[in-house]
Amino acid sequence: MMQNRTPSIFKDAPDAAGFIPRNNSLAGSVYEAIFAQLMSLKIPPGARINVDNLVRELNVSQTPIREALGRLAGEGLVVKTHLIGYSAAPQIARRRFDELYHLRLLLEPDSAARAAIAMDDEKLKILREAAGVMGRRDGTDERVRYSTFARQDAMFHDRILEFAGNELIRETLNHQHTHFHIFRLMFHSRVTEEALDEHEALLDAFAAADPAAAEKAMRVHLEHSRDRLLPAFD
Ligand SMILES: [Zn+2]
Repeated sequence: MMQNRTPSIFKDAPDAAGFIPRNNSLAGSVYEAIFAQLMSLKIPPGARINVDNLVRELNVSQTPIREALGRLAGEGLVVKTHLIGYSAAPQIARRRFDELYHLRLLLEPDSAARAAIAMDDEKLKILREAAGVMGRRDGTDERVRYSTFARQDAMFHDRILEFAGNELIRETLNHQHTHFHIFRLMFHSRVTEEALDEHEALLDAFAAADPAAAEKAMRVHLEHSRDRLLPAFD
């Protein structure tokens, strides 16, 4: 459940993108630092990623940086080009964005209704923890909070799909790395604050085990999420 918590190195760090203390989870810390830079657009979509610059900036050797970049490539956030090196994945096109939300709106409201029918205390507890609502405004660095929420949002939606019980739908949406691409469109606290309110509405529907309310809350959440991010294409 590591993804549910703010990574430990960031607890005392004044600037998440800065110096990384050496500890036994160095590879994970380096990964989190670069992930935060990608999600918060400090490294913009399509930009070259200079390994030597990261070596200096994070004060670590090339090895954990190359490891992290390899892992990020597997998640679709980084592209490695022969003889050129690493760059941030390009921003998704407007057409792809529309297709993604069309797909999500077809699948996720129905899944939320099914999850509400299957709801029990244990599942509700898991969703409450995954929703990200409890960690609001805890004073963490803005870039880290944004990237943490992007991952939490991915997990929250994935858990709902898991409880809905259709593994093919779950795999299909997972395969798109939807949340990473969507959150990288815009770095703004409004994106997370409003989404957290909508997650609370979803949790209320799950707590009431009300499929109609869950379906509606998910539809509203996805439509608002889409509308919040549309200005990124202006
Ligand atoms: Zn969400």
